[in-house]
Amino acid sequence: MNRFDRQSFLGKDSQKKIESSKIAIIGLGGGGSHIVQQLAHIGFKHYVILDPDRIEDTNLNRLIGATIDDVDQSRYKIEIAQRVLKNLCPDAKIEAFPNKWQEQLNALKKCDIIFGCIDSFIQRRDLEGFSRRYLIPYIDIGMDVHSVPDCPPRIAGQIILSMSGCVCMQCMGYLTEKTLAIEGTRYGDAGSHPQVVWCNGVLASTAVGLAVDLITNWSSSLKEAVFLSYDGNTNTISPDNRWQYIKNNVCPHYSLENVGEVK
Ligand SMILES: [Zn+2]
Repeated sequence: MNRFDRQSFLGKDSQKKIESSKIAIIGLGGGGSHIVQQLAHIGFKHYVILDPDRIEDTNLNRLIGATIDDVDQSRYKIEIAQRVLKNLCPDAKIEAFPNKWQEQLNALKKCDIIFGCIDSFIQRRDLEGFSRRYLIPYIDIGMDVHSVPDCPPRIAGQIILSMSGCVCMQCMGYLTEKTLAIEGTRYGDAGSHPQVVWCNGVLASTAVGLAVDLITNWSSSLKEAVFLSYDGNTNTISPDNRWQYIKNNVCPHYSLENVGEVK
């Protein structure tokens, strides 16, 4: 038995495909840190990771791999992610940037999949636009917590796979004029950045599952975009209510003619 025998059902050359794929993870907080850890266990070897932030004490409720010493040393989140990756895959090739993603487009262009684990709706739109331009599947995760008068808080999240030729996050009704107007750090309304480790774990695990299927095609069933909704109060994931009505639409937002370098 070797380290990857128990995932050999993914297909004859699956480990080769995994090892030769280059994966970007943008945002290495509560969501991205789970994704990094799982990709390392699966055996991915090529990474582009980006996050301009250093860890703070308030991140310790959810940032996988982080330690109290990291907070004391005020380490960059990319340093923590690199350590997690290297501890599991010492020969991994990691391009790590303490930057915003917009500052490292050349590195991102060469990736096979981009994970977006970011809070801002405008950045999501821009990142999806970039991914479409370079024909790179984009996987988005996020959660928020809504206050409901006289009821328990409601935890909601989403896992989206956006791919060229399929409906986009605007078609899905996930990015709307209204959500794009709620910009910046405010996301959800139950306090600033409500985030918990178990919900991030569910979202990240589902997103990683999509990525592995994209690369290995092991299920032979992932042929189109994906829009899943997570209900953290009932612990369920299901296709978003809107999905059946919009999944076969033709996306008017991203034309297949607008691919490649910006002219
Ligand atoms: Zn669209």
